[in-house]
Amino acid sequence: MSRKQIVILGAGTGGTMTANRLRRRFDPDEAEIHVVDRDDRHVYQPGLLFVPFGLADVEEIVRPRRRQLRGGVVFHQNEVEEVRIERDEVLLDDGTVLPYDVLVVATGVRLQADETEGLTGAGWNERVFTFYDPEGAEALRGALERFDGGRLVVNLVDMPIKCPVAPLEFAFLADWHLRERGIRNRTELVYATPLDGAFTKPIASEHLAGLLTEKEIELVTEFNAGEVDGIGGTLTSYDGRELDFDLLVTVPLHGGAPYVERSPGLGDALGFVPTDKQTLQTPVKPNVFALGDATDLPISKAGSVTHFEAEILTENIARYLAGEELDAGYDGHANCFIETGFHKALLIDFNYDTEPLPGHFPTVFGLPLLRESRLNHLGKLAFQWVYWHALLPGREIPGLGPTMPTAGKKRIPVSPERRTR
Ligand SMILES: Cc1cc2nc3c(=O)[nH]c(=O)nc-3n(C[C@H](O)[C@H](O)[C@H](O)COP(=O)(O)OP(=O)(O)OC[C@H]3O[C@@H](n4cnc5c(N)ncnc54)[C@H](O)[C@@H]3O)c2cc1C
Repeated sequence: MSRKQIVILGAGTGGTMTANRLRRRFDPDEAEIHVVDRDDRHVYQPGLLFVPFGLADVEEIVRPRRRQLRGGVVFHQNEVEEVRIERDEVLLDDGTVLPYDVLVVATGVRLQADETEGLTGAGWNERVFTFYDPEGAEALRGALERFDGGRLVVNLVDMPIKCPVAPLEFAFLADWHLRERGIRNRTELVYATPLDGAFTKPIASEHLAGLLTEKEIELVTEFNAGEVDGIGGTLTSYDGRELDFDLLVTVPLHGGAPYVERSPGLGDALGFVPTDKQTLQTPVKPNVFALGDATDLPISKAGSVTHFEAEILTENIARYLAGEELDAGYDGHANCFIETGFHKALLIDFNYDTEPLPGHFPTVFGLPLLRESRLNHLGKLAFQWVYWHALLPGREIPGLGPTMPTAGKKRIPVSPERRTR
């Protein structure tokens, strides 16, 4: 095989794992691997949840991107300007043109707070915050320290968002934090979501709604946020319902990276890249693959998903270059720890066809599923170490792979009507 040129756009979770896996797979004389990212700050994003509560510092969850890449991977610190699909090349913001034999799109999502009227107007980062980026998470920490009771509203503007359970986790941790400080009895906590329940999947949704009730957090459903008045403290939905707040914690609208829209044929109307559910190849062109939050796949935008996808993607790039049939081996496997406060967490595990079920993971002797436990909380904390030292370097982790294990799961029959919710 002549020396191939592989270009990976994005050096976050998916881009870094893919680059390191490919570097292990191919000798330097077989493939040259280029990775592009606009900055040199790799954020461990699950850690952002803990920053507002003083349970993590931003410096602890950020590392240089270059240092996460194996020797022999070429890092370009640049903004991607455009992908020229017909010419198999990428244009960077300094005019560099990177030709490729294989392209991997791993540029995640962009937060579009400006898309909601008033959200980033007066009151932004004073009374209205997001913890979805390091600056916002840190600013919210100051606001929570100053908060002395009132109405705290947590709202996700619309789906899809990355880590769909993160706003719920924020509400649970806020309840714990306020109780610890002795001001919970003078705080109303509200969770407002555009969904018709606490979560997207019926069984997990019921469990999570039960937890919200237990923790006296009001659940407001089918709330499509249309406008924010950060001075008056009002969040208004498109159908005219109003929620007053003293502190608003928002998860803004998500879209794909802007260059996707500027590259004809690459993305859909939201800037996400159409991607084959099982092979991770895109219909854009056979040499274009995508993974992680940047795809349009019908599964959570999560680091776990990105990790499982990276395994199949790496295999399929090797097969594509060898002219072999691709492996249709990704079944939509996703899992997620959900912090519930008081040193406990739930774990959910699911795929395209099976919603989160009770039982144990990965076998009958494993971690409890859909049940709060200290073990799950410890699992969530330990995950940061696993992320830096095993996932990003592209090491195999026994028991964690692209197909969902069924051994420990209890089957609950779900009516077709509930399945479609
Ligand atoms: C608060 C929070 C909590 C979370 N908790 C969890 C959790 O508990 N479990 C879990 O599994 N997942 C969690 N996630 C989600 C997880 O972090 C993401 O799903 C994962 O990082 C996706 O990886 P990715 O490679 O697709 O995108 P990212 O890791 O976001 O990487 C995308 C990269 O592309 C770069 N980029 C974008 N556009 C351009 C451009 N034009 N030019 C150059 N570079 C560009 C960006 O700088 C970025 O580095 C959480 C996310 C958040 C925000």
